[in-house]
Amino acid sequence: MKKNILLFFSFSLFLIVKSYSQGTAFLVTDPIVEQVMLGNYDPLTYSATVVLNHPDSISQGILQRVNADSLKSNILKLASFQNRNTGSDTLSATRGFGAARNWVYSQFQQYSLQNENRLLPAFFQFDQVICNINRHKNIIAVLPGIDSTDKRIIIIEGHMDSRCEVLCDTACVAQGVEDNATGTALVMELARVMSKYSYNHTIVFMITTSEEQGLFGAEAFADYVTLKGIQIKAVQNNDVIGGIICGNTSSAPSCPGLNDIDSTQVRLFSSGGFNSKHKQYARFSKLEYKEELLPYVSVPMTVSIMSAEDRTGRGGDHIPFRQHNYTALRYTSANEHGNADVTAVGGYFDRQHSTRDTLGADTNGDMVVDSFFVDFNYLSRNAVINGNAAGMAAIGPKSPDFTVVAIGLNTVEVTIAAETGYAYYRFADRTSTNDWDSVYTMTGIVDTFIVGTAATHYLSVAAIDTNGIESLFSKEILISVPNGINELKKEEGISLMQNKPNPFDESTIISVYVDKGKKYKEACISITDSRGKEIKRMPVELVQGMNEVIYEHGYGASGIFTYTLMIDGKAVESRKMIFAN
Ligand SMILES: [Zn+2]
Repeated sequence: MKKNILLFFSFSLFLIVKSYSQGTAFLVTDPIVEQVMLGNYDPLTYSATVVLNHPDSISQGILQRVNADSLKSNILKLASFQNRNTGSDTLSATRGFGAARNWVYSQFQQYSLQNENRLLPAFFQFDQVICNINRHKNIIAVLPGIDSTDKRIIIIEGHMDSRCEVLCDTACVAQGVEDNATGTALVMELARVMSKYSYNHTIVFMITTSEEQGLFGAEAFADYVTLKGIQIKAVQNNDVIGGIICGNTSSAPSCPGLNDIDSTQVRLFSSGGFNSKHKQYARFSKLEYKEELLPYVSVPMTVSIMSAEDRTGRGGDHIPFRQHNYTALRYTSANEHGNADVTAVGGYFDRQHSTRDTLGADTNGDMVVDSFFVDFNYLSRNAVINGNAAGMAAIGPKSPDFTVVAIGLNTVEVTIAAETGYAYYRFADRTSTNDWDSVYTMTGIVDTFIVGTAATHYLSVAAIDTNGIESLFSKEILISVPNGINELKKEEGISLMQNKPNPFDESTIISVYVDKGKKYKEACISITDSRGKEIKRMPVELVQGMNEVIYEHGYGASGIFTYTLMIDGKAVESRKMIFAN
């Protein structure tokens, strides 16, 4: 009885927090756009005169046509609105969020004109009191897919709202250049470039509001699509994506230190470990970059698949979508300027979430910015990686399923169990990092692979269509091969797994595999340094299957550490992990 009361209480609390006004909660200003997102349309209505839907046309087209100058001019214009705070002016034609969103909308109209009117702009409006304003609007531009039988949409998005030190300050200069004119400019540029091509799936380009106050623009849209039954294949959020300069206080996993430069790495943050569809999508995005683009680019990029869903203590628009069970990830630059802790004792001197997040510096005193904080070529490379991932996901086949038929000495035999009509498949093997060790091509639906000597392997498969493009990868299956240390067959049925990645970024995933569903009072992971001193203790839940905890060790912690699984106060098993940064 007590439990029921508790449940009822938390449910009413939930209703109070999500206080959209009755009746007018959500509105897409063009009803046709809503029907397209639902998949209720005739693709011929939006057909291009020349249909360019081959993966090479799309990849090469994005690579050649995404333009650093175009990104730069978008950012200069966004900065010119001076303050894009969620609560800022919506009536002025030159200052505030309202002026900025009308300009974005007009740009989407321009891109549509350049592409046979195939891109459909609209506002997504929601009623919620944020920074004293009752009604807010995201801007969307929808490119209808050429195959409306698969109704899943792909969203490329970034937030446009900016802020100063005070959350709802609408009087300050809040140009929000790194955070997040960069993401806004990227989404706009991809809308311009990608609208020339045709994709099976509908692609939605979205610029959100109210991210800084609590991800409200993304949250409202995630609520809206769920309510309407609009299906989502994947969401790519872009936030803080063009800066290359490290601040003093960047949130972990952070950059090496003040003024360090990195213009060749981008980070993909997403939720989960084993069997996370978000991480599978991050790996797919990286694979498509490696296979479709890397041989042709002038500056190769490192795509880092991060362990955590976001930087420590930070969040972004991908989170509400993940919470609604949609596949979602975040693109963020390797280096960022600040941790946004604007109330830090002793002061906060970095740029993020301050009035200093501006275009750059005037180094020769002629009143013109000549040294930019954002690298437009770097932003352009990130836009290409983004567009290519979304483009390939929007044309690829359906994901297969598979079973492991036999495990030999370092070999595994698999059979495709759904979507069996393709001539080729991919088989991916992952052992100790967030990325695949190997991706093989399978001929037919049965094949045997040699997998190395590691004790455990995370396997998944994808289908390949006749153009050579992969579907998204299936769920992972965990196997243990006899030649390795057979951890899973221990009598207790509990194994502490090697942390992943090891060594890698500033957080790592520690997993405990439980074979049988036994009952324990309490379990934890204890971390000790090289002198045996305990530095952290984290509770871990032990249910049947893989149980994971994320350990954030921060940038400075290098060396060898030991982690120990403790059950009901007793040490069960220990392993070593290396932090090498
Ligand atoms: Zn941001």
